[in-house]
Amino acid sequence: MISERERVQALLDQALAEARSQGAGRITALHFIVYSPFRETEARLRSMLQELTAQTLAENAQIVTRPGPNRFICYRCCALRFESEDEAAVCPNCGHTATLIPSDITCALDHIETAESDEGQD
Ligand SMILES: [Zn+2]
Repeated sequence: MISERERVQALLDQALAEARSQGAGRITALHFIVYSPFRETEARLRSMLQELTAQTLAENAQIVTRPGPNRFICYRCCALRFESEDEAAVCPNCGHTATLIPSDITCALDHIETAESDEGQD
């Protein structure tokens, strides 16, 4: 079982690898998609990142989050999976109420913003 902290570390590693592959000097912003419960998850994410980004290219990066959509699966038709912003959703294929998939992923890396070096910081 991977802890949330390990997952966040893995997302950060992914961001750092991407920044290095771009030849960036630092990461200026980290954009995350956060799944419900949004506020709780976001608070934990921010506190973990504050610690994990220390002395990395992502130190002092702005952390930008947006809520992810809820994911649903329909068991009536061919187990169609779809996403919706709503708490409850109807299958777009057969019209039956779909089942919310409990999210084991609490957050995901959306994209990063980088800069060439420490210079030019606002
Ligand atoms: Zn369906």
